[in-house]
Amino acid sequence: MSPAVSGYTQRRANRERVIAALRRQGAMTRAALANVGLSRSTIQNVIEELAEVGMVIEIGPYTASGLGRPPVLVGLRGSLGVTVGVEIANWTIRVAVCDLAQKLLLHTSAPGDDRADPVTTLTKASALIDEALARTGFRRDQVLGAGIALPGPIQRRTGLVGRACTLKPFVGVNCAKLAREVLRLPVLVDNDANLAAVAEVTWGVAKGCRDLAYVYSATGIGVGFVVNGNLYAGANGTAGEIGHTTIDENGLVCDCGGRGCLNTLANPDAIIRNLKQSHGAGLTIADVIALAHAGDAGCRRVLADAGRHIGVAAANMYNLLDPELIVIGGSLAPAGEILIDPLCESMARRAIHAGQALPPVIAGYLGEEAVVTGAAAAVLADADAFPLRPA
Ligand SMILES: [Zn+2]
Repeated sequence: MSPAVSGYTQRRANRERVIAALRRQGAMTRAALANVGLSRSTIQNVIEELAEVGMVIEIGPYTASGLGRPPVLVGLRGSLGVTVGVEIANWTIRVAVCDLAQKLLLHTSAPGDDRADPVTTLTKASALIDEALARTGFRRDQVLGAGIALPGPIQRRTGLVGRACTLKPFVGVNCAKLAREVLRLPVLVDNDANLAAVAEVTWGVAKGCRDLAYVYSATGIGVGFVVNGNLYAGANGTAGEIGHTTIDENGLVCDCGGRGCLNTLANPDAIIRNLKQSHGAGLTIADVIALAHAGDAGCRRVLADAGRHIGVAAANMYNLLDPELIVIGGSLAPAGEILIDPLCESMARRAIHAGQALPPVIAGYLGEEAVVTGAAAAVLADADAFPLRPA
């Protein structure tokens, strides 16, 4: 290779590193960009080159920097393209669109059908993507890729949806392969808890967090682990199935065939089941939480019990992985301290203390849009798999 060619290749590689960092972390100061492992002068040159071709713009002053003249944040131009998030949840399909500057342009939803075959569901999602893009003014050829969230584990080696998925027609299906055909876009597929964790790290309470356990409650309870800044899915994609950890060896039989799993004690169905005698049928988990906030003793009691059970599982999880932060997201998050205080008490009784405080446990900042926006953010963060499209 001639020196001129290798110089060109090096410059291109440097540009790609800076673009990848800005996609993953959003606008940054030039000094913070040093974490990509390039010298200050190289970063300065790369930013100048990218600014000349209109890919990078100055966003404004970084006001949290303290005394003196604040440094300037630089970021990617949002109009360079968009990523799409698709959440196929139980009975609901959501779509979100996010631009290259990490700006969420919109999120929208439509009813889904848990009994429908995957092609029908994905075709519906595709129509929802078209509608969303039309509203944001972007075309399909400006979409870098779509992140798809499913309520269950995705087997890493085979790409097949695992049997714990609560959307039964998707079990055993290679959703990525099918979605690429139906959506006509590059895709990634992951489970809902993992992608919601990405959203909280990108925009929410865990922004910038490197070691996070995100406890997500929907039909079941799952954990999205961020370890050393990256999602940790495990060898088979089943890491974080906390809902199927054993809390009561002699408890009720769970869907998975196990006995006394956390889901049988603390998922929304289990919580509501406890109130049938006292409050009658037909309550939703949102009703239970609203009643608890209004002072209903029975509803407060069942949420506290659920919190204690989750605390047992959280202590075991803490002892194994030592996260810096635990975030409670999904349908149980609005319960706030009614759930979290007993959870912390129960966790503290069981977790090892290496002389330091246990990690904070806090409710997620993002609401029902956490999963779908995280699906869009995961595509944005993966510059290798979803490169910028040529202008
Ligand atoms: Zn189970």
